[in-house]
Amino acid sequence: MRFQWSPRGLQAKLSVLVGATLLLMLAVVVLMLQRQGAVQKQVAGHSREAMHELVFERLREHGKAQAAQVADSLVNPLYYFDLDKIGDITRAALRQPDVGYVLVYDPSGNIIHDGSGDIPTYGQAMRDGLAYEAVSAESVHAQWSETVLDIAAPIRLGDQRLGGVRIGYSLDAVRADEARASDALQERLGDIGNRHLWWVGVALLALLGLGAVAVLVLQVTVVGPIRMLGDVAREIEAGNFAAPIPQSGRRDEVGDLMRAFGRMGESIARHDRDVRRMAYTDVLTGLGNRLAFRENLDQRLMQLRGAGQQLALLFADVDDFKRVNDTLGHEAGDEVLVQFANRIRDAVEGFGGASLIARFGGDEFVILLEGGDGSGDDLRGRAADLAELLVDLLAQPLMIHGRQVFLGTSIGITLFPDDAASATALMKNGDIAMYEAKHAGKSCHRFYSRAMDQAVERSVRIEQDLRGAWERGELSLAYQPIYRLGDGRLVGAEALLRWQHPEQGSIAPSVFIDVAEQSGLIDVIGPRVLQTACSDAVRWHREFERGEGLFISVNVSPRQLRSGTLPQQVAETLRDTGLAAHQLHIELTETAVLGDELHTATLLTRLRNTGVKVWLDDFGTGFSGLSHLRRVPADGVKIDRSFISDVLRDPDDLALTTAIIAMAHSLGITVIAEGVEKEGQYAILRERGCDLAQGYWIGHPVDAEAFAALLA
Ligand code: C2E
Ligand code: MG
Ligand code: MG
Repeated sequence: MRFQWSPRGLQAKLSVLVGATLLLMLAVVVLMLQRQGAVQKQVAGHSREAMHELVFERLREHGKAQAAQVADSLVNPLYYFDLDKIGDITRAALRQPDVGYVLVYDPSGNIIHDGSGDIPTYGQAMRDGLAYEAVSAESVHAQWSETVLDIAAPIRLGDQRLGGVRIGYSLDAVRADEARASDALQERLGDIGNRHLWWVGVALLALLGLGAVAVLVLQVTVVGPIRMLGDVAREIEAGNFAAPIPQSGRRDEVGDLMRAFGRMGESIARHDRDVRRMAYTDVLTGLGNRLAFRENLDQRLMQLRGAGQQLALLFADVDDFKRVNDTLGHEAGDEVLVQFANRIRDAVEGFGGASLIARFGGDEFVILLEGGDGSGDDLRGRAADLAELLVDLLAQPLMIHGRQVFLGTSIGITLFPDDAASATALMKNGDIAMYEAKHAGKSCHRFYSRAMDQAVERSVRIEQDLRGAWERGELSLAYQPIYRLGDGRLVGAEALLRWQHPEQGSIAPSVFIDVAEQSGLIDVIGPRVLQTACSDAVRWHREFERGEGLFISVNVSPRQLRSGTLPQQVAETLRDTGLAAHQLHIELTETAVLGDELHTATLLTRLRNTGVKVWLDDFGTGFSGLSHLRRVPADGVKIDRSFISDVLRDPDDLALTTAIIAMAHSLGITVIAEGVEKEGQYAILRERGCDLAQGYWIGHPVDAEAFAALLA
C-alpha cells in the first residue's frame, strides 16, 4: 500500500501553516496600506493649510508694500488734487496682477478715484463691509472677506491726513494657485504611495515564493523521507523484508532517523530469519521439521502439478524407539535420534535425487525423492532401493553410552501423483504405509495401496461398532484355567475378553483391544471386565468345592494404569463383589509398566496397597531386562508364550526362561508360563521350577458356564 494524501498528514499541516502565515502577512500589508492612505490624506490637509497661509501671508505682505508705495506716490497728487495724476497711479496699480479694485478716498471715506476714466463713483461714500475699518485705519491695514483681500493705507502729509487708498486683491487667483499646488502635492503623494504599493507587492510576491519554497523544501527533506519510511514500514509489516530500505548520507536528524530505520529493518529481517530458522529446523538433529517439510512439499506440488513429474515420499519410523527412551533414558533416546539422522542424511546424500529430509518429531523421518519425468516404475524402483538401503543401514547396531543398541526402521512409501495429489493426503498415505510396514513385522518397507485405507477404515468401523457393544451383550468373558505345576492343581483363571460381532462373528482381542485403547473406549469396558470377572469368581467360590481359593486374573491396559484411578476402581470392585483382595491378580503388560520407573512404581505400589497382586504379562518381550524386576514392585511375571513355544528347540529360550525363573524366585516373585501347548513344555517348565502354567495343552479359554462345568 502506498502513502495516500490525508488532511491530517504532515504535508497538509505544513501547507496550512504556511498558508496561514501568508494570510496574516497579507492582512498586515492591507492594514499598512490603509494607514498609509489615511496619513496621506492628513498630510495633504496640513500641506494645503500651510500653503494657504503661506500664499495668503505673501499676498498680504506684497499688498501692504504695494499699498504703502501707492499711498506714498499719491501724497503729492492728492495734496494738489491732481486727478489725472491720481488716475494714472490708480490705473497703474490696477494693472498689477490679481488686483480687483483700487480706491482712493478722502479722510471721510468718499471715493476720489477708482481708476476708471469718468469716475462714476466719485464723491460716493464706500459702503462695503470692509470700508469702515479701511477708512479708520491709522496705518497700513489688511482685512479680508470670502473673495477679496483688502489693504488700506492712509495717505499723509506730515500730520495731516489727506485720505487713503484701498487695493482689493482677488482671492480667486490665490485659491486657484493653492488648488494647483495642492493637486501637485496630491499627485506627488499618490506617486510615492504607488511606488510604495509596488514594493509591497513585490515583497508579498517574494514572501509567497518563499512560502512555496519552504513547503517544497520541507516536502523534499522531511515529508518525502518520512513518507518513504512509512511505505517501507508498511511493507515490513506485511512481511516483505526484501523491500529496499532507503539509504541516506544526510548528516541531520532525518538522516539519523533513516539510518536508524535501516538498522531496525535489518535487525527485524535478521530476527525473522532466526525465528524462521528456529521454527523450521529440528533443534536436535538440525534437519528440517514438519512445518518446513510441509511448506516445501506444498510448493513442489504446486510446481509439479501438470508438469508430468513425480515424487516419492518415504516415511521412516524407528521401531520400538519408545523402549529406548523408557529403559535407557531420554538422553540416550536423543542420541539415537541424532545418530539415525546422520545415517539417513549420509545414505540419502550418497543415493542422489533426494532433495529433502525432515524429522517429524518423535522418531519419524521423512524423505522426499524426486523422480524424473520418466516412467512411474522407475521412481518406484528407486524409492524401494532407497528404502532397503535405509532399512539395512539403520538395522546396524548403534553405540549409545557405551552400550550396543539394536533398533530397526519401518518405512512407508507413497507416490505423487499416483497415490494422491495433495500434501495432506500424501502425508496420511505415508503414515498408513509405515504402520503397515510395522504390522508386517517391522524393519521393512511398504508401498501405500488403497487396500491400506480400507484397513484404516476398518479400525474406524470397529470403533463405531464397539461403542455400546457391552450393553448389547456382544462382549463377554472367557476364562482360561491356570494350573500349579508342582501338584497339577487348578488354582486360578485368566479372564479374556470376547467380542461376538453381529455380522462379522467373533473378533479377536488383538484386533479390537488396540482400538479400544486408542479411542478411550477401554475406560468404559475395563471396569466392566473387572466387575464381571470378580463376581464370577465369587460365585464359583460359593458354588464349587474346587473353586475355593481360586484366584482370578484380569488384564488391564496401559491406559487404565496411567489414568491413576485404577487402585480406587479395584478397591470399589472388591468391596462391591466381596472378593478377597489377594484373590484378584492384575495383569499389566511389561510395556505398560515401562517408562517413568518412579511414577510407575508409585502407581503399582498404590495398586498393591489394595491387597491385589500385580503380574507382569508377556514378560521378556519388552526391553526391560531382568534388572528391571528389582525396581518394579510386582508379585509375579508371566513368561511370554514366544519363549515357551521354542523352549524345547531353542537352547537360548530355555536359558532365558530358566534365568527369569531363578531371578524372580530370588526376589520372591511368582513365575507363570503362558502358551503351554505341549506336554514336553509343561514337563520342562516343571523341572525348572516354574510355579504356574496356562495353555491350550492344559485348557483353552472357555465361557463362564463351561468353566463352571470344569469346576463341577
Ligand atoms: P494375554 O493377556 O497374553 O492373553 C493370553 C492370550 O494367549 C489369549 O489370547 C489366549 O487366548 C492366548 N492363549 C492361551 N493359551 C494359548 C496357547 O497355548 N497357545 C496360543 N497360541 N495362545 C494361547 P486372546 O484371548 O486373543 O487375548 C489376546 C490379548 O488380548 C491378551 O493377551 C491380552 O493382552 C488382551 N486382552 C484380552 N482380554 C483383555 C481384557 O479384558 N482387557 C485388556 N486390557 N486386554 C485384554
Ligand atoms: Mg494376560
Ligand atoms: Mg500374555
